[in-house]
Amino acid sequence: MTAIDELLRRNEELGNIVPGDRSSPMPSMQVTILTCMDSRIRVFEIFGLKQGEAHVLRNAGGVVTDDMIRSLALSQRKLGTREVLLVHHTNCGLELVTEDAFKDELETDSGMRPPWSVEAFREVKDSVRGSVNRVRNSPYLIHKDTVRGFVYDVRTGVLTEVI
Ligand SMILES: [Zn+2]
Repeated sequence: MTAIDELLRRNEELGNIVPGDRSSPMPSMQVTILTCMDSRIRVFEIFGLKQGEAHVLRNAGGVVTDDMIRSLALSQRKLGTREVLLVHHTNCGLELVTEDAFKDELETDSGMRPPWSVEAFREVKDSVRGSVNRVRNSPYLIHKDTVRGFVYDVRTGVLTEVI
């Protein structure tokens, strides 16, 4: 049995029991949360989110890449969100690689150097500041007054504001 088989089994077992408003694609709290794909960050539980309240965008690191900007532009311009909550975290997988070493590895295996940035970092607070500034400086976004960046401690569950 694969992990996906197991997840499908659990889904069937749980049924459709999640409460919340399903009437609109526009998040009722008008907020977008950007965070890492890390399996210890249970976004919905951490913020007590119900269905229909917030957009949640995730990637490796929770870094604001062009694709994050693409989703944020749609979120703000077509789906009514006005605030951005960015959460990076301690003990992130991106601290385990360096930009050049990971690109070298991919190039060695594939013969092609990736055109995208790995976005590796050593200091998580710098990574939060960098991502928040990308949101604030993006010409494609219309709501940049309330953009706040935090570090989530995966061991204690404490959120610390950085910027
Ligand atoms: Zn991470």
